[in-house]
Amino acid sequence: HEVNVCVALGCLSQHSDQLKDALTKEAAASGKRCRVRQTGCMGLCAAGPLVLVEPSETLYGGVRAEDAKELIDSLGEQPVERLAVHRENYFERQQHIVLENSGYIDPEKIDEYIGRDGYRALVKVLTEMTPAVVIEQISASGLRGRGGGGYPTGLKWSTVAKSTGAQKYVICNADEGDPGAFMDRSVLESDPQRVIEGMAIAAYAVGATKGYIYVRAEYPLAVSRLTVSLREARRRGFLGTNICGTAFAFDIEIRLGAGAFVCGEETALIASIEGLRGQPRPRPPYPAMSGLFGSPTLINNVETFANVPPILRNGADWYSSIGADKSKGTKVFALTGRIANTGLIEVPMGMTLREIVFDIGGGVPNGGKFKAVQTGGPSGGCIPEEHLDLPVTYDALIGVGSMMGSGGMIVMDDTSCMVNVARFFVEFCMTESCGKCIPCRAGTVQMFQLLTKICDGVATHADLDLLVDLCDVIKNTSLCGLGMTAPNPVLSTLRYFKHEYLEHIEQKH
Ligand code: SF4
Repeated sequence: HEVNVCVALGCLSQHSDQLKDALTKEAAASGKRCRVRQTGCMGLCAAGPLVLVEPSETLYGGVRAEDAKELIDSLGEQPVERLAVHRENYFERQQHIVLENSGYIDPEKIDEYIGRDGYRALVKVLTEMTPAVVIEQISASGLRGRGGGGYPTGLKWSTVAKSTGAQKYVICNADEGDPGAFMDRSVLESDPQRVIEGMAIAAYAVGATKGYIYVRAEYPLAVSRLTVSLREARRRGFLGTNICGTAFAFDIEIRLGAGAFVCGEETALIASIEGLRGQPRPRPPYPAMSGLFGSPTLINNVETFANVPPILRNGADWYSSIGADKSKGTKVFALTGRIANTGLIEVPMGMTLREIVFDIGGGVPNGGKFKAVQTGGPSGGCIPEEHLDLPVTYDALIGVGSMMGSGGMIVMDDTSCMVNVARFFVEFCMTESCGKCIPCRAGTVQMFQLLTKICDGVATHADLDLLVDLCDVIKNTSLCGLGMTAPNPVLSTLRYFKHEYLEHIEQKH
């Protein structure tokens, strides 16, 4: 038997490390043929600490160190029913590609990754494919950037490949900063080799020899697992020189972000790696032509790179057969807020919001009434009940005033004041504005003050008109995405919940 214990941050915060030690001790004492293994995230964070027993695939939740003996004793016998998690809907509706190893392998053991087809794609690419064919495959798969914008990945790779420069770089953006988002952290904590393999394939395709993973310093567990994984990948010849016995050379360094949200913007991120203040600069030139240290640079986020090995392993046709028109493949979402099954999910694109929130997420707990779901982080918007049957695709979400973003989904019930929700996101943008351009630096403060007036019941209709005008100016004149999208939470709540703004103004509460 394999006894997998989740030691990603969610379960770890509930002492799953102590649970793992207790299970290891009991397993040794029992004399049973079983192995206790630390793994990454199993997804259902709400029911942690989680233990998955193989081969029976029995999932246990809320397991404490005191339960270790009973659980080990039950191996090969009847499952411990009081600890068993029965949330079939949560798992059955999902399709795991990015998360295919999460919960099944020890993230710090490269052999476990290799044992589940890890690095097979890199070997195949280096020995059987030209860089142009790799890019063709990525383009044909329909993969789009998972960091927020949804730019076609193959097109980005081909632009960098065509750019000339003695040195090219590949950067993995792991500066995940949206409130409520933890997809990238979880992938890095659960299956870091997958991201390294994806980056190495990208480097081969675009002609880069040097890579950086820019990761938040607030993710110490991800950083430590990445550090171990990079060392292991070098030791096994998947990084460094003569990779897989070929002439290809590539290596990766980690750079820690100091907590500025704006450093998730690619030009600010590049400035930060260069040792400069993390502020965006106007584009063009785009990083694909002139990026890190003025050289052609490919930047993709964690989830985008994590999709690359399975695409090359299984073929572009396989990947493009999953998902929806123009939104191929799957998407990882972090479900948070007023939702029963808080956690990490991966679903084919095109699934409806209703299926995600109610069938997988289990709906609003304790008989609460659903009001809205916020997608796309501070750049996104709140989607009301009337749009719950919307298929989740890049274009459909933009059509209702939100966006895919990196994958945070925050569910709100009817106790949430939507003006206050908008104020929360505007306050976030105001605090995180880098201050380089006036519309964002001063405009987010003005938006925040007007929203506070409305929430405090001291605003007038003229204030609301001013807020709308301000949104328009900030959206159209800010330098980078942070400012350009900062009004979105206000605009989307005004679109669907204007009556709440008016109630505050007219009833003065
Ligand atoms: Fe900085 Fe905001 Fe301007 Fe972006 S929009 S450059 S975050 S001030």
